[in-house]
Amino acid sequence: MSEENPTATPASYDYAIEMQQVCTRFGDKVVHEGLDLQIRRGEIFAIVGGSGSGKSTLLREMILLHKPDSGTVKVLGIDLAGISDEQASSLRQRCGVMFQKGGLFGTLTVTENIGLPLREHSELDDGSIDEIAAWKLSLSGLKPEAGGLYPTELSGGMLKRAALARALALDPELLFLDEPTAGLDPASAGGLDALLRHLHQLYQPTIVMITHDLDLLWQVTHRVAVLGEGKVLAVGTMEELSQLQHPVIRDYFDGARG
Ligand code: ADP
Ligand code: MG
Repeated sequence: MSEENPTATPASYDYAIEMQQVCTRFGDKVVHEGLDLQIRRGEIFAIVGGSGSGKSTLLREMILLHKPDSGTVKVLGIDLAGISDEQASSLRQRCGVMFQKGGLFGTLTVTENIGLPLREHSELDDGSIDEIAAWKLSLSGLKPEAGGLYPTELSGGMLKRAALARALALDPELLFLDEPTAGLDPASAGGLDALLRHLHQLYQPTIVMITHDLDLLWQVTHRVAVLGEGKVLAVGTMEELSQLQHPVIRDYFDGARG
């Protein structure tokens, strides 16, 4: 089967994500206070931090769902400030997002959900779209029969995988995962680490995930950013971070381990 992306654009960037001096507040609540972050192209990168440290907001700022009050956000080399609707649409096609709650349309089957972005952004015929959907389904670790089910008929683990399959529909250069294993029992979460590694080998997408899952953090990520106090407190490999003496990082690591 052809693996060509009908919407492929030549890549010309070193950093998949570049954030400089990002400030974000909600009323009196300061969430990001001069935050800097660089995520390299092709990297598997995780963002960790305590509850309320601004992880989800950061992700929303990367995928054009929230605009920071000030600072620069560049995604795939494109500055999101003053981006045109046309540029935004083309950027969205290059990014796949797996939302925490799945975000699938309840009135569509899994196969129809996966096919939706292809129908919207390509000229492919129904047969080809179904073929691609079947391939993404299997790539995400689901059996072909799952394609005919509706989201409400799926277990938590299957729902996450179906959401991943849809995020992969357009062969994204950049894949965002919000808590890919949260709420799953170990049996359902198991295998996602190998699956993500396999995916990365196949396409080399940049993967940005928010996760507390130590297995994913240690087994899959190249580098991790620790968020706290409105900033990125530290960035490094898990090995490097686990050596740091910074109290917030220590708390986080001890807490996450405990
Ligand atoms: P995390 O994902 O790390 O738990 P969030 O990014 O969701 O943190 O939230 C960071 C802080 O910003 C929290 O205190 C949260 O209540 C607040 N916040 C997030 N989104 C909004 C919003 N739309 N309106 C008001 N406050 C918000
Ligand atoms: Mg969150």
